Amino acid sequence: MTSRWQQIYRAGNSLEAHTLKGLLEHAGLAVRLTGENLGSAAGELPADVVQVSVWVPEQDAVKARQLLAGYETGNQRRWRCISCGEENEGQFDWCWQCGTDKPETDA
Ligand SMILES: [Zn+2]
Repeated sequence: MTSRWQQIYRAGNSLEAHTLKGLLEHAGLAVRLTGENLGSAAGELPADVVQVSVWVPEQDAVKARQLLAGYETGNQRRWRCISCGEENEGQFDWCWQCGTDKPETDA
């Protein structure tokens, strides 16, 4: 039986695409990426290649979209600094008060 694939996201770069791929695979979904040279290249990924599309089997598309919605919301969510307790806006990667790196929340 052949799975039909559905594009659920267009990432701005390869790094983001692979981040999402990891997120979805962690949830048990099969993931394909298109738009980059997937060859057998190992190691460093260029951060600014063309847009990369993320695909999942059609039957998993709803679940995948939910996961991505959580990912996008998480990017904007306020977070509390583990060092000084200051609340920071989601777009900041470190605490504006004391400079501590934003903690890795999910995954
Ligand atoms: Zn802080």
